[in-house]
Amino acid sequence: RSQEDVGTGSGSAASEDVPHTASFCTFEALQQAMTDNQLRLAWQPQVHAHDHRLAGFEVLLRWQHPDHGDISPATFIPVAESTGLMPSLGSWVIEAACQQICCWRKQGYRVPMVAINVSVLQLDRTLLAHVSHVLTQYRLKGDCLEFEITESRLMQNLDECMHVISALRRQGIRISLDDFGTGYSSLDKLALLPLDRLKLDKSFVNALTSAGYGYHVIEAVVRLAHSLRLMVVAEGVETRAQLHLLNELGCEILQGYLFGAGVGADTAVRYLRQDQTF
Ligand code: C2E
Ligand code: CA
Ligand code: CA
Ligand code: CA
Repeated sequence: RSQEDVGTGSGSAASEDVPHTASFCTFEALQQAMTDNQLRLAWQPQVHAHDHRLAGFEVLLRWQHPDHGDISPATFIPVAESTGLMPSLGSWVIEAACQQICCWRKQGYRVPMVAINVSVLQLDRTLLAHVSHVLTQYRLKGDCLEFEITESRLMQNLDECMHVISALRRQGIRISLDDFGTGYSSLDKLALLPLDRLKLDKSFVNALTSAGYGYHVIEAVVRLAHSLRLMVVAEGVETRAQLHLLNELGCEILQGYLFGAGVGADTAVRYLRQDQTF
């Protein structure tokens, strides 16, 4: 596969909703993937809704399996989580992302915010120590990073996670509630959480242009987010019709195949070079 294809095709994206555990996807194989350099990051652009300039990247983990090709994180993250590998796998992602940001900066690029998916199973003291270590090592400040944490998982573990999230924010790292709308947050909890952004799940974005109540639900969600002083990021934007409506609704940041899928760093650097408008 070419560099352009490091990002997910529709195959891996579709499997996000129906994760299945392949038999080769074991603790040992994942451990080997880490030591044998089979993991890669794909960088997906995020754009400002008002002018379509690059606003940031979300880094998406990829496992380039020697026999089975590109494996979606939807398949192997659950295995990492259930076998105790998530903290080390997650630390690998944070370090690899920071190393790349540092490398781009050394080449003279201005690098926008980089969003990293963080599992609730990583939210502990070890993560805080790792993050400060990596930021120091690569001479970065926390404000170049955003951590995306899945709504449903966070709400189930709120008390334990709260102080780690607060500590991350004190380091300047922004916190985004991922897959928002799929987790049935109670509104009082949402108001209590120290967050910076809500990331509207793509099922909502899909509902926008299908007949029914989609538009009004999202309108209410965006209002709610803004009243809590949160920015709204919409994921899974695929059509110009969705783009138009999300803009009208006041979403600040957009991400999806309409602007580009996740690509390898060699390809992603073009976005930095051109100060591109999408
Ligand atoms: P997510 O955080 O909701 O990420 C969005 C997923 O949708 C990604 O799939 C992305 O490639 C795909 N996608 C992006 N734009 C579009 C679009 O316009 N249309 C459609 N249909 N799909 C789009 P991917 O890369 O397979 O990742 C699946 C999930 O795995 C992610 O869902 C995230 O929860 C998790 N994940 C990815 N990387 C990591 C990581 O480093 N750590 C952890 N803990 N989880 C990760
Ligand atoms: Ca995410
Ligand atoms: Ca999602
Ligand atoms: Ca997700």
